[in-house]
Amino acid sequence: MNYRAVEPAGEYVARLETGADWRAEIEALATEVEADAAWFTALGAVRDAELWFYDQRDREYAPIEFDEPLEVASCVGNVSLLEDERFAHTHAVLSDDEGRTYAGHLESATVWAGELHMRVFEAPLERRHDDATDLDLWL
Ligand code: ZN
Repeated sequence: MNYRAVEPAGEYVARLETGADWRAEIEALATEVEADAAWFTALGAVRDAELWFYDQRDREYAPIEFDEPLEVASCVGNVSLLEDERFAHTHAVLSDDEGRTYAGHLESATVWAGELHMRVFEAPLERRHDDATDLDLWL
């Protein structure tokens, strides 16, 4: 395990813009407040979504696409630097009109309405390629 203490540098709440991309909105806030490390939670609703499932055997992401309105019952993630760009690693539990849930790594989604809480940390977090998992993980 690799760990460090983090010092909070500020907290923000934000309403995500209708019609914008869910993850791009989070990255835009991170850029606006110069957050190179953050943790966030969010909720709301989207008009469509693309979740990714990481197949550990094939070491590849497989997309799962939804072209329907869904609730964002829960969304959690973090912001770190990937190749010097701010990356919002975002996971979500989405639910449909019968309460069925779909969950995974949120690649993209069109915001219907979204409410976000972000806690920013002082020291940056960086990602690098990890050979054991073939993923970009924290240093
Ligand atoms: Zn993920």
